[in-house]
Amino acid sequence: MHEVGPGIFAWVQPDGTWWVNNAGAVAGDGGVLIVDTCATEARTRRFLGAVAEATGGAPVRMAVNTHQHGDHCYGNSLLPDDTVVFGHAAMREALLADPIIDGCPPVWTPVPDWGHVTRRPPSVVFTSELTVHLGARRVELRHPGHAAHTPGDVVAWLPGERVLFAGDLLFNGLTPLVLMGSLEGALRSLDWLAAFEPEHVVPGHGPLATASELPEVLAAHERYYRFVLDAARAGRENGLTPLAAAQAADLGEFAGWADAERLVLNLHRAYAEAEGGEVDLLAALGDAMTWHGGPLPTSV
Ligand SMILES: [Zn+2]
Repeated sequence: MHEVGPGIFAWVQPDGTWWVNNAGAVAGDGGVLIVDTCATEARTRRFLGAVAEATGGAPVRMAVNTHQHGDHCYGNSLLPDDTVVFGHAAMREALLADPIIDGCPPVWTPVPDWGHVTRRPPSVVFTSELTVHLGARRVELRHPGHAAHTPGDVVAWLPGERVLFAGDLLFNGLTPLVLMGSLEGALRSLDWLAAFEPEHVVPGHGPLATASELPEVLAAHERYYRFVLDAARAGRENGLTPLAAAQAADLGEFAGWADAERLVLNLHRAYAEAEGGEVDLLAALGDAMTWHGGPLPTSV
């Protein structure tokens, strides 16, 4: 747990790979706002225990989900019953339809065991922005205006303290994922993130970033997204499938990032965007396993 400002906490879970997310908590007059939960019961209990310790057991009044993926919201059901959960309307729809919470397919190894978690979608939804006041503390929940990592991405921005919880719009030092979002949208979201001019950034995965580190974090994302778009263009020109395009691509500087197989998933999204289709998620995950040579590693 890192205190990035007075009463503002970032829960950073190494190693940040598949299903191992970051979360946070903001303490203000009268209670706490939680930013994301975790994938499993065990990890969420550990997180909520650390929040209680850091905040002196202050009541968790509110929570927000930055997006629909289970590493950020399966643990919602472990929040107190009277905690009000916020999220984008598209995030709520996606969690209600999520099949993986009922039993994870053997795409990852070890196959994650979520423990006792159930679907708990946000009870308050919005599509653009919503401002939450914790006493004198202001927290702005903002959607970029388009799909990026997912259709319903939300950041939590504390303008008074200049802290930005970016969710999975940022993976710091790991391979970004846009399988269920948009390559073009993810690229556009980088300028939107920079415009907040944060002092401290909590990415969805990977270590925290300061204002001086953020430009390189954003530049690395931009280089990666352009690399994926170039690989997709070359693959389509040569009549290659997304898997074959990934196999033909040279990861170069990105080879050292964990979860490199996301290239296959990101290419599936790039192809779908270029061709106006939808991604077959199971086929894309199967291709990623083929590229990787077996189930995808996770330390969840
Ligand atoms: Zn995530």
